[in-house]
Amino acid sequence: MTSQAPTLVARTIAVGETRDLAAAVAALAQPGDLLLLVGDLGAGKTAFAQGFGAGLGVTEPITSPTFTLAQEYAGRLRVHHLDVYRLDQLAEVDELGLAELLDDGGVVLIEWGDAILPVLPNDYLEVRIGFAGPEGDDDERRLVLRSVGPGWAHRQVSLLHALEPWAEAPSARDVPPAGGAPC
Ligand code: ADP
Ligand code: MG
Repeated sequence: MTSQAPTLVARTIAVGETRDLAAAVAALAQPGDLLLLVGDLGAGKTAFAQGFGAGLGVTEPITSPTFTLAQEYAGRLRVHHLDVYRLDQLAEVDELGLAELLDDGGVVLIEWGDAILPVLPNDYLEVRIGFAGPEGDDDERRLVLRSVGPGWAHRQVSLLHALEPWAEAPSARDVPPAGGAPC
């Protein structure tokens, strides 16, 4: 039941924060992990991939793979960075050799991965990035991390701790009024 997948929410107010958050997630990465990076153009999917790669010790610059479909980087774990935005048909996914990539002991990050869900294993971390600032503020993002399947769900507590610095502040209605009952 993907709708009940454990979910964590974070906020960043600069691209560096999104990169740092991604590096913190990368510290938990294991061979064979799959991450789907979801969100509108310019949301920060590539920025997340850059931070994630940095967290795994990738030194080569990670760039947008929109026209190359897939790029590979060497790090503590190999990083396969894919962008399926320009895929016209699901059939084209064959060209990616996804099964081999997932099986190669590295980590696979797929921008716009939600577009190819039917061909993906049901075990991944979905990172949904949205614009969150008030009108005119371009730097605030809300990240919703959803652990679908057992792989990341087993690491949920570690993920919670990793995201702590960027955990979304409780909304005003969750905060008890000042001067409430003494405890
Ligand atoms: P996408 O891959 O989702 O299309 P990119 O990562 O290429 O997006 O671009 C995100 C852009 O937004 C970059 O120019 C980045 O500097 C900017 N940005 C500003 N604030 C943030 C933030 N909090 N998180 C991520 N990116 C941000
Ligand atoms: Mg991108």
